[in-house]
Amino acid sequence: MAASDFNFYSGRVIVHCLHKSLVFLAGKQNSYSVYNTEIRQIKVKKRHKDKRFVPLYLSMPRPCFFTLRLALRYTASMQSLSQIVHSSTALLAAAHVDAPRRSAQIIAAHVLGLDRVGLLLHEQDKLSAEQEKCIQALIERRAQGEPVAYLVGSKEFYGRTFLLNAHTLIPRPETELLVDYALEHLPSHACTFADLGTGTGCIALTLACERPLWRGLMLDIAPQALDAAQKNARQLGAAQQVLPLLGDLTCAPLLPHSLDLVISNPPYIAEEELASLSPEVRNFEPAAALFSPRSGLLHLEAAARAAQGALRGGGLLLLEHGATQGEVLAASLAQTHFWHDIKIHKDYAQLQRFCSARAPAY
Ligand code: GLN
Repeated sequence: MAASDFNFYSGRVIVHCLHKSLVFLAGKQNSYSVYNTEIRQIKVKKRHKDKRFVPLYLSMPRPCFFTLRLALRYTASMQSLSQIVHSSTALLAAAHVDAPRRSAQIIAAHVLGLDRVGLLLHEQDKLSAEQEKCIQALIERRAQGEPVAYLVGSKEFYGRTFLLNAHTLIPRPETELLVDYALEHLPSHACTFADLGTGTGCIALTLACERPLWRGLMLDIAPQALDAAQKNARQLGAAQQVLPLLGDLTCAPLLPHSLDLVISNPPYIAEEELASLSPEVRNFEPAAALFSPRSGLLHLEAAARAAQGALRGGGLLLLEHGATQGEVLAASLAQTHFWHDIKIHKDYAQLQRFCSARAPAY
């Protein structure tokens, strides 16, 4: 047996034994090797019904106290990494989950602590029973529709990893378009901004990371979301640039004429649209971050009102919205006779995705 077979437990147990004894060792392992000169015979009995114990049948020349030095062999799974990715993919495909192979790969990589390259390099490695069990448990949750991002607790946004939790939306690639727009249309020297309804902080923190001189507020009504945003700020080294603020965006406490940018991906789905959402969104993403009253417009309009008071002359407003809300929102901005340069922008799927507008230059 190779030394690496004994990687799970190696230790000493003191046992008092009669000629023939049954010893129960705590542990989940069912295979072992014993180094003890006094033991004549050692057999693993059939697994005890209490799975926490491994019954060993020992046979000795005489009754004695002795130290049993043992190495319990890790119960190797029969599956290699590529096999489990393959079988998980089949299971997820049968459950009609989107991108089954990608899901299986991300889950396996997460459990094994590997990145994409690691996943390829270790393809033929045998998994431990523990690793296999963890992967299977997550795959089962995925098969029930739980999004991968919640299972692994993070999601990539603008090339960075953001931690998330059940109280935050999963950052979407479409939201990167707002970030791009802000970066292109504002000076790279010192700017101040507010991200209303920050969630994971993906917008605010990406701006902070891309523009080291920018400073911003991250506002959210959910303390657990703000907690994730703060963790992300620390993890990305941007904590000095942002101020987390617990509050409601419908009455955002922003100083008048203090900001160059107000940016928001607020809740904007109409409650009536609940049934048309995919089960992944409907059953797992936080309702407070998804839905807004008044056909989904309440938070969008509130964010625009907050921006109207808080932006400096020429300041920029960027609001993400639903595919059918562009014209209505643009009309509502125009009605204020405050905003200039109101534009609706499309996303990769050519759907209306966000509105931009400028505060008048004084
Ligand atoms: N700003 C965050 C995001 O874009 C959260 C949005 C929200 O909670 N509605 O993901």
